[in-house]
Amino acid sequence: MKMLLRSIPLRCGQAAILRHQVRKPSAQPKRFQSNAAVGIRSEAHKNDEFEIIKEKTRQLLEKPKIDRQPFLKNLFIKKIDPQILEFPEVPKSAFDEIMRQVEPLAAKVLKDVDAKDVDKNSEIPDEVVAELGNSGAFVHLIPRTHYGNDMDLVGWTSLIESLSLNGNVSLGTLAYTMGSWCTRPISQFGTEEQKAFYLPQIADGKAAFSFCVSEARSGCNVASMETSVRMGPDNRGYILNGKKSWVINAEKANYFIVIAKHEGMGQITGLSRDTSAEYYKAAAKQQEGSMSAFIVSKKAPGVMVGDVVPFVGLKGLRVSEVIFEETAVSLDCLLGSVGQGFDIAMKSVAAERHVLAAAAVPLLKKLMAETVRHACERKLFNRELKEFQMIKEKLAEVAYLTYGLESMMYLTSLLIDTTETPEFDLESAAVRAFLGEVGPYCVKSCMEVFGAAGLAQNTVFEQASRDLLTLSSLDGGTDIARLYVSLSGLQYAGAAYAKNIHERNNPFNYPNQMVRNFMVNLVPGSKKKRKVFLEDYLHPNFQVVGQDVELACHLFFDCVEGLLVEYNKNMIHRQMDLRRISEMAVLIYGSFAALGRASRSYCNGIKHNQQEMNLAILFANHATQRIDAIHKEISTTAFARDGLMQTVANHMVTQQSYGVEHPLSRVF
Ligand SMILES: Cc1cc2nc3c(=O)[nH]c(=O)nc-3n(C[C@H](O)[C@H](O)[C@H](O)COP(=O)(O)OP(=O)(O)OC[C@H]3O[C@@H](n4cnc5c(N)ncnc54)[C@H](O)[C@@H]3O)c2cc1C
Repeated sequence: MKMLLRSIPLRCGQAAILRHQVRKPSAQPKRFQSNAAVGIRSEAHKNDEFEIIKEKTRQLLEKPKIDRQPFLKNLFIKKIDPQILEFPEVPKSAFDEIMRQVEPLAAKVLKDVDAKDVDKNSEIPDEVVAELGNSGAFVHLIPRTHYGNDMDLVGWTSLIESLSLNGNVSLGTLAYTMGSWCTRPISQFGTEEQKAFYLPQIADGKAAFSFCVSEARSGCNVASMETSVRMGPDNRGYILNGKKSWVINAEKANYFIVIAKHEGMGQITGLSRDTSAEYYKAAAKQQEGSMSAFIVSKKAPGVMVGDVVPFVGLKGLRVSEVIFEETAVSLDCLLGSVGQGFDIAMKSVAAERHVLAAAAVPLLKKLMAETVRHACERKLFNRELKEFQMIKEKLAEVAYLTYGLESMMYLTSLLIDTTETPEFDLESAAVRAFLGEVGPYCVKSCMEVFGAAGLAQNTVFEQASRDLLTLSSLDGGTDIARLYVSLSGLQYAGAAYAKNIHERNNPFNYPNQMVRNFMVNLVPGSKKKRKVFLEDYLHPNFQVVGQDVELACHLFFDCVEGLLVEYNKNMIHRQMDLRRISEMAVLIYGSFAALGRASRSYCNGIKHNQQEMNLAILFANHATQRIDAIHKEISTTAFARDGLMQTVANHMVTQQSYGVEHPLSRVF
């Protein structure tokens, strides 16, 4: 294992910035020249004929979606797809359409809401939520045939971002959860009758929904929920019992999407949807434990909404408990098939969880602006704060981390929108995991620049730190997103490498394989391994950093293969390594996103493209250095360190405390 991991010298990420040579902006990466959008721009520039743009945009719009493979999943089996470096272009007319829908809506809603008041009063004004509903904000994602606005994911991302401007994280998050957790499951899993009944009400702002999955005792382990459902008298409907926790907007909702566990029935597979009592009875004969989803009216008997739970942040969401006591619902309230509840819950939360970052990005930008302003105004030691190197370091770090987050978020939406059968759930979880890491960290860095002034109550920082911390726990937490990335990727890699792993673990039965591995491990350096040459897909200014990122991919491959060979199915129990693998994957994806975006901006002559280029280089440099360090951790010290960490934690658990005496305590 260690031999395998050491086969690549740890030079990735070294001084990329020093070696980085700035070239003329006119230089184009080889394969970028074929990018249709770049082609449009330069041609228009030469001929100054707007008609050409219109014509080509039309062609682009009519272009079928691409048959693209999932990037991160393939990375786990050593496949690098350099094509995603061509940050997909939004055709001008599609971009205009997004702006036409998003800008007026956001402007209309935002004029009546003040983030500070929302935080102080723990409430988004009713008129604002009504305005949001009336404007169709909650049906943007769903097809026109389902009474929606047929917006692409990139439009949805842009809408959530626009609604979250001026520190309105609660508002953006509310719109996100309404659209992604409530409306979309109805559109995706509902019957035609359910769609026809509920979706127009949501589109007109006449009905509000809440999503009821979590319970205080089960938390992330949704499968262990206690809310139960059983068949009612005469098999004419269902009876629900249980208590759901932390339900957003429950007070004002008219309906709830509720996931409940069947009493006396189990996992049902291969049965088509049929809400008849006969079907239910047949299905109920199967084992216990399966779940179903229901649309429950607040007016149904036995539905009670508890008091608002005062959270530290995102106070505008007004989360409450919802209690169901012998609540009778009719057969046609079933959403999806009997037994499909778990799937509906997971798909609703996971489908586009990267869009949650859109609620945080405007806040991070706002904090950066405030911090820069303060650094320019504050004078210390006869100099302005902005002149000190450590202050500049903090500003640049917050900027490149935000740039990485923003780039990954939009790249994920663009990939999903432009791919024929998109499978980017790992990328979506990667963005979500990165949000949890960098959001609170960036707030802390900005606060430090402000010193004591940043710690005063009622500042933008106070609210920002509370909001971003709460946002990080919204959909199961950052660790769950990390585990999703690594476990899903390793599962895929494990299946792909099964033969290889078996041969490596039985070297005496497969001597040829043993010799081949030995020879591979003898080859020093990574240059021989580089096959893709990422720099060919980027602007020439990114030559060095492109090489470093490719090298980082090889370090990742070594870690994945090494850990799988060593632990195989036991990997599920090695959470510290799973966290490391996930971090590497997230950083690689972030580097591709940042470099692809900056390369596009530079080639297209977007304003401040030089700054973008620098941010992308800094991000990729940060990523490759961190990947180096993780590779080293896995290949050398991690095992001893991980064991020690567990011993320390176990001692704390035994002592139910820190478990160490006071430094002044004595025994003599
Ligand atoms: C603002 C807000 C709004 C919410 N709105 C809703 C809503 O509208 N509807 C709804 O149904 N729910 C909602 N939730 C609930 C949310 O989805 C839950 O917080 C989530 O399900 C996690 O449960 P928990 O908080 O009890 O954490 P727990 O499950 O107790 O987890 C605690 C910690 O342990 C970690 N952890 C859990 N399992 C593992 C593991 N196997 N390995 C390692 N670490 C692990 C988690 O990442 C977390 O950090 C909301 C939460 C918040 C904060």
